[in-house]
Amino acid sequence: MGDAKQVYTLSDMRQWDVATGDLDSPARLAVFGDPIVHSRSPQMHNPALAAAGKNCQYVRLHIQPDELPEALELLKSQNFIGTNVTIPHKGGVFDGVDDMSEVARRIGAVNTVAVEGDRLMGHNTDAPGLKLAIREAFSMDLTDLRIMIFGAGGGAGKAASVQCAMDQCERLVLVNRTVEKAQVLAEELRDLMDDPEKLEGPTDRILAIPHEVAAMEEEIDQIDLIINATSMGMKRTDPEVIPQRLIEPHHLVYDMIYAPPRTRLIANAEAQGARASNGLGMLLWQGVLAFEYWFNEDAPVEAMRRGLLDSLGE
Ligand code: NAP
Repeated sequence: MGDAKQVYTLSDMRQWDVATGDLDSPARLAVFGDPIVHSRSPQMHNPALAAAGKNCQYVRLHIQPDELPEALELLKSQNFIGTNVTIPHKGGVFDGVDDMSEVARRIGAVNTVAVEGDRLMGHNTDAPGLKLAIREAFSMDLTDLRIMIFGAGGGAGKAASVQCAMDQCERLVLVNRTVEKAQVLAEELRDLMDDPEKLEGPTDRILAIPHEVAAMEEEIDQIDLIINATSMGMKRTDPEVIPQRLIEPHHLVYDMIYAPPRTRLIANAEAQGARASNGLGMLLWQGVLAFEYWFNEDAPVEAMRRGLLDSLGE
């Protein structure tokens, strides 16, 4: 009996019984990605599987884009329960599943697959994971908030924007360096934001603006929650997402970045007296939701949280 390899490949998947036959428990869950070696998902899911008494384990699979169709087929024939999917496959898996949830359809990306008999069901748990993370961090629901999303044109920003619109948030301002992407998204989401019960004020309920100080300054007074879905902040030398002086004590600030745990945005927000949270909660809750899709039961959240914190050395 042995430990799982750091990373498996498609050729392993073709002979899964041989490649994983010496493991303590069968490898029936995985994360697909390219690259994949740095994924923390096994460190989050394996403690959860142990805590829930499941006789299976979760491994990393290095799948290249041209290998994806075969890998999806092998999920069924090799008796997998499901898989998570990370860069660059969220769009490819969207095209490869048999059915998908409404939120995944709206976002155009699948990050979780559940094997249901001979069918593959696609989900996007990033978006509802963010919603649960905001609730946990700030005891607030998206529906009650006026929200500004930076990086709305990227993958994570689109997921966040769709969730905010589906939850009929009070107001949604989509900010993107390439403003055309945010404008297209605002048009796609406009129909979700026309709840007649929400008060029509003098400001647009959904709009797109460029990632420029003058445009932010005009809107920031009408915002409760600021979400960073850009990659700005991963490096210490990155410029500010939003000038510190524009952050006010009443703002809630959610930075999707979790490494480093305290970004410049979070430090700036706290210096201004605002409440702030990093993206660890989103990572945790998207995993919790994936577990629940695979097993149809509540996930052991605290085991997953501990596993994630351990993987980050926190
Ligand atoms: P992505 O698809 O590459 O999108 C990046 C976004 O950031 C785009 O909107 C891009 O604008 C913008 N951007 C990049 N550099 C910028 C700069 N210098 N100035 C202004 N805008 C800039 O990336 P992603 O996959 O969405 O990930 C975005 C971030 O979210 C990453 O930090 C990632 O780690 C994090 N994330 C966290 C979680 C979690 O669970 N916590 C989950 C997913 C992602 P343009 O459109 O103009 O290029």
